[in-house]
Amino acid sequence: MKKLTQTITAGRDPEHNHGAVNPPVYHASTLIFPTLHDYEAGERGQYPHPTYARFGTPTSQALEEALATLEEADHAIVTGSGLAAITSALLSALSAGDHLLMVDSVYGPARRFCDQELKRLGIEVTYYDPSIGAGIAKLMQKNTKVVYCESPGSLTFEMQDIPAIAEVAHKHGALVMADNTWATPLYFQSFKHGVDVSIHSITKYVSGHSDLVMGAIMTTKALYPNVLRTYRNLGPTPGSDNCYLAMRGLRTLGVRMKHHMEAGIEIARWLSHRPEVEKVFHPALVTDDGHLLWKRDMTGACSLFGVLLKPASHKGLADMLDNMELFGMGFSWGGFESLMIPINPKTVRTVTADKWTHEGQMLRLHIGLEDVDDLKADLEAGLKRLKKSH
Ligand SMILES: *Cc1c(COP(=O)(O)O)cnc(C)c1O
Repeated sequence: MKKLTQTITAGRDPEHNHGAVNPPVYHASTLIFPTLHDYEAGERGQYPHPTYARFGTPTSQALEEALATLEEADHAIVTGSGLAAITSALLSALSAGDHLLMVDSVYGPARRFCDQELKRLGIEVTYYDPSIGAGIAKLMQKNTKVVYCESPGSLTFEMQDIPAIAEVAHKHGALVMADNTWATPLYFQSFKHGVDVSIHSITKYVSGHSDLVMGAIMTTKALYPNVLRTYRNLGPTPGSDNCYLAMRGLRTLGVRMKHHMEAGIEIARWLSHRPEVEKVFHPALVTDDGHLLWKRDMTGACSLFGVLLKPASHKGLADMLDNMELFGMGFSWGGFESLMIPINPKTVRTVTADKWTHEGQMLRLHIGLEDVDDLKADLEAGLKRLKKSH
């Protein structure tokens, strides 16, 4: 079945839900065992149904099944946030004395987790240039257990050569983890490209309606027991209402992504021709450094990209951002509404900081589901305000 069809059919079970098309919301903490025999099976981990809602309910299990189907993962585990998916996955594979190779363009809060928690636990962390590819071999150590990728990178949108990195990592006995939030389970088949653990912020496009925070870890069959163990020991369980809403979002993911992709590319291209703009960072544009990798590995793009403005005054920037009609200034992305925030990659990078020392301001845009002409008009007026206060 094609992906679009799977977004509709996966994780549904009307026969066991009184005919209801949507798996119902199970609000539960306690789940009752019918017999002592079942209770004892539960203690041995051999009871085939959920035993306690922290470990899942039929609502979360339906979502996990749907997500795993879409990304062709053996298993999915849903978490209370995307960050909880990242931290649980890393903790499942790293111990004191181990070494982690972390991409320099990783999602900022994940970087803080590495610097403030993993290092404290005696785990060595080395950041690497996202464009490193097979050159990662130079950084591999005897104790390297995980190579972590995020493609394209947060804020700066560098594509990574994940198959080349995976080949080297696997030769050295290390795992490859990748944050696949940008591409969604629809546009990058991580396991076919050598990834062992794929991580998502479900908060973004899968939920799609800016009303919940949630994550998912997808794994191979071999790694599932490890990831599950750590997940169970940490307990980052999402609530059932959020699982239900995420599933509802997933049903329209295909049509929403198609619109996000087309509108995002159109506006990115349009912006790249504006006189106020120095450069646009969007891997689906032929002018982008990562375009060939994107074309080779991904089957689509979302609508999140970077824009480097020509130098302008801070007052001009404020005039632009404070008065946007359709673009809100806020964190997160992947919802139905457009967003725009100023970003400063050089302050968070260590290996590639000198690549981001432009004088002009960088912006991160998320293109929502509004009419594209209305968005262009809003942007055009904003760019005029930017220039006027110059
Ligand atoms: C937002 C984001 C996360 C974290 O997700 P939350 O659900 O907000 O915890 C992780 N990775 C990327 C790439 C993100 O953009």
